[in-house]
Amino acid sequence: MRIDPHDIQICIGDETYADEHGGAPMTAPIVMTSLFSFPDLDGLMEGLAAEHRTHVYTRGQNPTVEVVERKLAELERGGACKLFGSGMAAISAVMLGVLKAGDHVLFVNNTYGPTLQLADRLRSFGIEHDISLDTDGDAVRRAIRPNTRLIWLESPGTMMMRVLDLDAIAGLAKEHGILTCIDNSWATPLLQKPIRHGIDIVVHTCSKYLNGHSDLMAGAVISTAERMREIFYRSYLLLGGILGPMEAWLLLRGMRTMPTRLRQQGADALTVANWLREHPAVRAVYHPAFAPEREMVERQLAGYSGVFSFELKDGGFDAVRRVIDRLRHFRIGVSWGGVESLVITPARPANTAALAAQRIPQALIRISVGLEGADVLIADLDQAMKDA
Ligand SMILES: *Cc1c(COP(=O)(O)O)cnc(C)c1O
Repeated sequence: MRIDPHDIQICIGDETYADEHGGAPMTAPIVMTSLFSFPDLDGLMEGLAAEHRTHVYTRGQNPTVEVVERKLAELERGGACKLFGSGMAAISAVMLGVLKAGDHVLFVNNTYGPTLQLADRLRSFGIEHDISLDTDGDAVRRAIRPNTRLIWLESPGTMMMRVLDLDAIAGLAKEHGILTCIDNSWATPLLQKPIRHGIDIVVHTCSKYLNGHSDLMAGAVISTAERMREIFYRSYLLLGGILGPMEAWLLLRGMRTMPTRLRQQGADALTVANWLREHPAVRAVYHPAFAPEREMVERQLAGYSGVFSFELKDGGFDAVRRVIDRLRHFRIGVSWGGVESLVITPARPANTAALAAQRIPQALIRISVGLEGADVLIADLDQAMKDA
């Protein structure tokens, strides 16, 4: 893992918060206020005329939230960031902020389910979409329509962890005057910096690795200052899905240990993935480290986080359920990126065809590796798969 030392410093935090009465506080003050007052009416009017950079009302800007926004903008090497009350609030603000009736969105790769459900919902507002599971340049080029306004990427993609060639797709989009947005939640800004590869907009759920403790919901959007200003006035301020100062402060605390968590979880996940690869009951392990496109993966990823999936050789849903129910150290639940290991499957008793349409095998198990230690997790998987 090659985490930039500058990024570690941003996460730990080296800012000082001025205090006129002595030593400065080590952590950011939590500014629990809904509004800010002004000495005179002219001051208020000036503030309202530039609400994206003035403290007027906490639905717009708040000093505690701004501390985290500045960090995320810098970690992604973007111009500005806005934080949201969840990853989905961030994703909806991007779509509603840049799209209009008559536009078309192209999703490339396996995409987070609720993001696609939102796209379905947007059909009733005149916004169409297609999904391209073929991810090479030619396939993406063929799927572009005259009214394609946005190409939505997820890399590595949900469930199957397939990696996209960001430079190639960003180049193609620029040729056609199309915006690109990537969901960078799996890699975090520490392991992948999409803006450097020409991607226009980056979204994150901060509920996963960024916070890292399964105790907070948050989301983020990062882009140029100009585009963020557009999103601020067109959707952020109007949809109101903001992050409160208390949550922003908790996120700030979670981010302080992100480099260390990721290093440990990434290394342990790779150990577990390599062990699973040799297991006789396992058909395949889906982890970016095993992707055939080595040059591309190494160009884009500075390392691997701790979420990956594997496929059982025999059996359908019942075999998957048996293995999952026998696990003792992996908790069964949605989400990922916390310090506790988690397991889930997209399989249901009768959804083989629906999964096949997404090119997801039915006997797929996804795990998020926590901080229990690789040995403990391998022993757990070993006993759970004894006669799988
Ligand atoms: C969880 C998740 C989201 C949504 O984030 P929330 O904070 O749960 O709203 C978006 N993208 C990916 C890849 C996710 O895993």
